[in-house]
Amino acid sequence: MQSELIAELKYVVGENYVLSSDVDLAVYECDAETLDIARPDLVVLPASTEQVQACVQIANKYNVPFTPRGAGTGLSGGATTVAGGISLVLTRMSGIIEIDKENMVAHVQVGLPNLALSKACEKFGLYFAPDPSSQAASTIGGNLAENSGGPHTLKYGMTCHHVAGVKVVLPDGKITTFGGKAKDNLGLDLLGVFVGSEGTLGVVCEAYVKLSAKPNLVQTMFCYFPDLEQGGQAVSDIVSSGVIPSAMEMVDKLSLNAVEDAFHIGLSREAGAILIVELDGAESSIALQKEIVVACVSRHQGFGITWAKDEKERATIWKARKSAFGALGRIAPHGYVLDGVIPRSKLREAIKRIEAIGKEYNLLISNIYHAGDGNLHPCLLFHRDDLEETKRVIQAGREILDLCLELGGTLSGEHGIGIEKIAEMPDAFSPKDLEAMEWLHHCFNPKSLCNPGKILPSLKLCGESGVRPLLRHQLSC
Ligand SMILES: Cc1cc2nc3c(=O)[nH]c(=O)nc-3n(C[C@H](O)[C@H](O)[C@H](O)COP(=O)(O)OP(=O)(O)OC[C@H]3O[C@@H](n4cnc5c(N)ncnc54)[C@H](O)[C@@H]3O)c2cc1C
Repeated sequence: MQSELIAELKYVVGENYVLSSDVDLAVYECDAETLDIARPDLVVLPASTEQVQACVQIANKYNVPFTPRGAGTGLSGGATTVAGGISLVLTRMSGIIEIDKENMVAHVQVGLPNLALSKACEKFGLYFAPDPSSQAASTIGGNLAENSGGPHTLKYGMTCHHVAGVKVVLPDGKITTFGGKAKDNLGLDLLGVFVGSEGTLGVVCEAYVKLSAKPNLVQTMFCYFPDLEQGGQAVSDIVSSGVIPSAMEMVDKLSLNAVEDAFHIGLSREAGAILIVELDGAESSIALQKEIVVACVSRHQGFGITWAKDEKERATIWKARKSAFGALGRIAPHGYVLDGVIPRSKLREAIKRIEAIGKEYNLLISNIYHAGDGNLHPCLLFHRDDLEETKRVIQAGREILDLCLELGGTLSGEHGIGIEKIAEMPDAFSPKDLEAMEWLHHCFNPKSLCNPGKILPSLKLCGESGVRPLLRHQLSC
């Protein structure tokens, strides 16, 4: 990296916030998708919107790519600097500028972790509804860029349904605001374009997010099934009956055993799957919904049905789900988490065929599902140093994504495309669709300096100039 560039960046953000040693850069070489690794040349940590603007202007002056990054919990390689350059890390920008409880809106800096916002709003009886399982670490900026979901997406929607406005630094360094604190339905919906654009259209610096009132009553149920398929059938029946739980999550035997090994919650190791169902709302309506849920579960051999008696028991139930991915680290050092979506009615078939793919490729696959909205998270366990096994993981992953498309679903429910699923984009979109997206991308990011090599397959792939060789490419190209 040119010394003038480094000096100018240090002048803007301070000496300590431009990192360039090998050890420091190694920390930022990937996100939580560890098949794609590419070290940045520099890591820069600005503290304000104005500092982000100055950094982007400097990157433009020297023609250096820059990739926005939050907490790096992304699961599609979105924050990985595949073309090198600057990893622009927003985590110092974690301030809450205002909580407007009357209008139920918070104005925040985007490096704020998701859960920190809900905790700060607790005293007003409010919370931020999108709740990715990574919410203790993942940032509002990352949630917004990925249009993240979570267990409660089934009833409350994705991040896009809870964002009122964003203040962004565009790829050329201009600052602009889309939407705002109050309802704003004028002109082209550029806020809608920005949310879910995975950091490819600019850097979000501040956000106006909508807060929700905490529900009066929450009832959380936990039960076991002999196998995933029966659990899947119960999930289908619950939704077909007209009950929309706030969350409906499934965890398979492999994951439940890993959780039990790690946390000794007291889970039955004999069961084939766990289902968690959460209902919220008025007491009178919940009573009827509970009856329907229990009837659906019992019809498909559900057993050990337990409703949490208090907040402590509820937290224990959620621990079985939210700590499941982490617990899998006891089985293998690396896990490739997929994010395919299928129509809920195909859950049973998908579960069977994913199991068959695991057998064919001789891989351990754990299954953790946002079952209510058909969002599958098969996690393929492996050791990255075993290149032959890693190759099988990539191939099996592709087959599972193809399966999702074949069953009428899609490539991603919430983790985004990033670098991970870029090769599959032509399977999901026609050339005309992709062309329209490229055109939009070009309008915002004509020099492709902002997060290059993501989402769109036309933007340099394996072996092309500027892109660092990724393990995936070495193994499969
Ligand atoms: C254990 C675990 C559980 C998870 N559970 C869920 C889940 O339930 N639901 C879900 O949706 N996801 C989940 N994820 C994925 C991940 O946590 C989300 O995608 C999250 O929103 C990423 O936030 P982050 O701050 O870590 O972003 P990063 O990983 O740092 O970045 C993600 C993307 O956003 C872009 N970006 C980040 N900040 C900005 C910004 N300020 N402006 C513009 N672009 C930006 C980056 O360039 C990148 O493309 C999980 C991940 C893990 C590891």
